[in-house]
Amino acid sequence: MNVIVDEEKCIGCGTCEEICPAVFHVPESTGKSEVIDEEACEFVGCCEAAAENCPVEAIRLQE
Ligand code: SF4
Repeated sequence: MNVIVDEEKCIGCGTCEEICPAVFHVPESTGKSEVIDEEACEFVGCCEAAAENCPVEAIRLQE
């Protein structure tokens, strides 16, 4: 699964990291979510929930 964060849209709320800390990290320095391990998406199975709960729909998942 490819996990893409649209940095233009991301407001750095941290929800994705809360839901899926193995996949997403929001560094204080940038305030934008980064994908740290997209392989973990399938392993922990929380990426769909992160995408659904992103308030600005910045997370896109591609099979
Ligand atoms: S949930 Fe969405 S807006 Fe919030 S940090 Fe993650 S990608 Fe950015």
